[in-house]
Amino acid sequence: MTMQTLLTELMMIPGLSGHEGRVRRYLKGKLDPLGLPTTTDRLGNLIATLEGDKAAPSVMLFAHMDQLGFITRKIEANGLVRIERLGGVPERALPAHEVLFSIGEGRDVPGLIAHKSHHATGQDEKYKVLPYTELYVDAGFQSAADVKAAGIDVGTPVVYRPNVSVLANGRIAGTSVDDRAGIAVMLETIASMLDEPHRPTIHFVFSVQEEFNLRGAVTAAQVLMPDIAIQLDLVLATDTPDMTARGDVRMGGGPAMSLYSFHGRGTLNGTLPHPAMVKLMEDSAADAGLPLQRSAHIGALTDNSYVQLVGQGVAAIDMGFPMRYSHSALELVDIADLEMLHRLLTEALPRIGPQFILDRDAFEQ
Ligand SMILES: [Zn+2]
Repeated sequence: MTMQTLLTELMMIPGLSGHEGRVRRYLKGKLDPLGLPTTTDRLGNLIATLEGDKAAPSVMLFAHMDQLGFITRKIEANGLVRIERLGGVPERALPAHEVLFSIGEGRDVPGLIAHKSHHATGQDEKYKVLPYTELYVDAGFQSAADVKAAGIDVGTPVVYRPNVSVLANGRIAGTSVDDRAGIAVMLETIASMLDEPHRPTIHFVFSVQEEFNLRGAVTAAQVLMPDIAIQLDLVLATDTPDMTARGDVRMGGGPAMSLYSFHGRGTLNGTLPHPAMVKLMEDSAADAGLPLQRSAHIGALTDNSYVQLVGQGVAAIDMGFPMRYSHSALELVDIADLEMLHRLLTEALPRIGPQFILDRDAFEQ
């Protein structure tokens, strides 16, 4: 299966935070034929461990299965539905978008986030962003009883209606590229590591509830107690006019590593990568002839912020693929970047052997 096919399949599966079951079952279906045993913890993290050299530091490689979205908040008597947001939902990019009530395979219900008729939009409303609390979903129902009969109730998960568009130059746009693209790279990396004779023990964790303020991966880390943690997720591409001041990450320019992340808007956390991991990625990219981009900015963070604090501390790094238009229903990624990220990991992981040093004094000037 090509990376594009794999990513497309993953993007079409609804998996709101706390409701990742359908993604997890898909992944189990991929891992079982490889003979790789998996476990699922009580939060829903799917964990597969590939045993390796016991003298080498152990690795937790992880990506999150969940996506942001909404929860049904109220069903109006006239059959319209109010929704509550779950995760960093961009309110100005919601009206006129399609959504899906994620009820169960074959039972999902499509709907749309209503956009006030243009002919009735006053001059003062034209450039105003409506708070999500004023929006409603129209799924065609005419009464609350109809809504409930379709299986929708308070608490029912809602996601952007899954969609994938193939654009020019191997670029893909659609829903939940964050972080199904990371999941696709993980699956390819597992396949590459199965036959690799020189490898550390690697715990592959498909985590839950990342978009619900970074919940799942830390629970997995508390049990696995890895020495090293590598998270796969998006890195903000900055090669559009609205983003140029933030950095130099180009779409198609290859994988990227984060040298600094911090989120100062409610979640006071971030990640400063372990210097051994930065050097590992730099050396691996150079030797494999792969480009490696660098990212450093505030405003975003990953599960690694919490994973790095487990036990005596975990040597952490965030590795990613450049992505545009984050958290909208049309996120954009370049397949070539995913393939290069996979190649970089395939080069880097076997280098984590018994001699791999995590002593900071060996690195810090
Ligand atoms: Zn993400």
